[in-house]
Amino acid sequence: MTNMILPGTRKILILFTLLTFLSCKVYQKTTVDLNKTKWISGSADCKENTDQPIQVVQYNYNTWILRQNKCVNYEAPFMFLFIGHKKALLMDDGATFSEAKFPIYKTVDSLVAKWNKANNPKVELIVAHTHSHGDHTAGDGQFKNKPNTTVVGLKVEDVQSFFKIENWPQQTSKFDLGDRVMEIIPIPGHHKTCIAVYDNETKILLSGDSFYPGRLYVNDWSAFKASTQRLVDFTSTHTIAYILGNHIEMTKTPGKDYPIETTFQPDEHILPLTVKDLSLLNTTLINLGDKPVRKTLDDFIIYPTN
Ligand SMILES: [Zn+2]
Ligand SMILES: [Zn+2]
Repeated sequence: MTNMILPGTRKILILFTLLTFLSCKVYQKTTVDLNKTKWISGSADCKENTDQPIQVVQYNYNTWILRQNKCVNYEAPFMFLFIGHKKALLMDDGATFSEAKFPIYKTVDSLVAKWNKANNPKVELIVAHTHSHGDHTAGDGQFKNKPNTTVVGLKVEDVQSFFKIENWPQQTSKFDLGDRVMEIIPIPGHHKTCIAVYDNETKILLSGDSFYPGRLYVNDWSAFKASTQRLVDFTSTHTIAYILGNHIEMTKTPGKDYPIETTFQPDEHILPLTVKDLSLLNTTLINLGDKPVRKTLDDFIIYPTN
């Protein structure tokens, strides 16, 4: 059949292929390579630290990744902002209450304001959490009672009712930001309120404190195992660009973590983990059996808390 393509049709096909190739190139150019991103990582002497309290990395035109300065709080959590046509979703708001020390509202508000200016009409800001621990929710107070802003509550029931999840934790739910569908996957185990969040546009999967290059503190062993299996099942049916957690605690040396509460990580692990890493966590958990056991692997440490 290929011999029957007319010369004019062939020209159109070549042009179409070329345009597809070019548009892929443009898309790639505007997406940051998170395997090469250098994050602010504190100082040996925090009195000498001159970094911003919040580092802002624009991943693409409608996605931002923020990191808190380790010298403001040693947890140095990551926070994520996704904007659609109707809503903006901020996942987590940091480890510090004080707006003077940690201006998370001002930072996010200026990003959203810029977006609104360029893309009328205004989006509503939703502040949700990967889970309810204080190092990811301390900024809530800065967002409460602000115009056009909703802060999701911190109890399991709040998360369930906001995202319309009746059957917790087995059921996933879709949350549409306006031509940008996020998927919410309950993954209790580190904490009972843990969720993973998948962005169908960038293919980024947020794994919170349940899976990141560091100490995976497991509070409920059997729930953690079941959640990890469900997350693996999810990744087997979805394209995953990056798995991004909330902290970095590992060094670049396999199996070596920084001390707890360190404020200086000059040689830290990259932020992203892969589907292969997640699958390794899952098989390791299966092999460890029913009794919680601490186990150090190259890129993370399984760390039961009881
Ligand atoms: Zn936590
Ligand atoms: Zn945390």
